[in-house]
Amino acid sequence: MVKAEGVHKSFGAVQVLKGIDLEVAPREVFCLIGPSGSGKSTFLRCINHLEKINGGRLYVDGELVGYRQQGNKLYELKDREVAAQRRDIGMVFQRFNLFPHMTAVENVMEAPVQVKRETKSVARERALKLLDRVGLADKAGNYPSQLSGGQQQRVAIARALAMEPKLMLFDEPTSALDPELVGDVLDVMRDLAEEGMTMVVVTHEMGFAREVGDSLVFMDNGVVVESGDPREVLTNPQHERTKSFLSKVL
Ligand code: ATP
Ligand code: MG
Repeated sequence: MVKAEGVHKSFGAVQVLKGIDLEVAPREVFCLIGPSGSGKSTFLRCINHLEKINGGRLYVDGELVGYRQQGNKLYELKDREVAAQRRDIGMVFQRFNLFPHMTAVENVMEAPVQVKRETKSVARERALKLLDRVGLADKAGNYPSQLSGGQQQRVAIARALAMEPKLMLFDEPTSALDPELVGDVLDVMRDLAEEGMTMVVVTHEMGFAREVGDSLVFMDNGVVVESGDPREVLTNPQHERTKSFLSKVL
């Protein structure tokens, strides 16, 4: 579903990704861990072309992200074509970024109505089902300010799912939450995984990675240091850098 081949990304003179190779299979839960500044968010943002890569190749569902290849040459896709690629990829951030002036159900309906030109009644019906699925059927009419952080984050997940993505990207979705609110969000993600959604998850929740993850990658300083079965990597890390990182977070 996602394939990275030698992905490089720099900001000015600063190389942030220094040749990332990895592959995420369909239905896989792929967890990404690593120290602050190692490039995890940047890599996620490259997957939906919020950042342009400077080298290598990045594919989602067999399609080159952001580019079209002709012979040996790459041509940038038009904004409209990039938007079409992005439509299939849901993203959930650390901060929930809900529209504050819209209720939960209106937040979830927004993209299908605006982007897919769905009728409001069809979009509302699906939005209500999605809110039910994330345990918020009774909060559909609440504004974000009337929801807890964990509830807002579950609305954000429902909103991403409303576009019926084939891939979901999560960037530390629980790290801004009070500890007692984390479990509900992880439960929603666990359900999603069980339903077969392909997910790339940047997280510090090692319990989630261990129980739900199919693969785990430890990234440091823009490179993949170690990867494998999460249970294997977490209990028996092979590299010093992985060991020292895990000793601080576990
Ligand atoms: P964290 O765990 O703190 O979220 P991260 O692994 O997600 O860290 P990134 O946010 O990907 O790290 O950042 C990697 C590096 O890239 C950092 O040194 C950061 O300062 C730099 N960086 C990220 N975005 C930009 C940008 N738009 N312009 C310049 N530098 C950037
Ligand atoms: Mg980050």
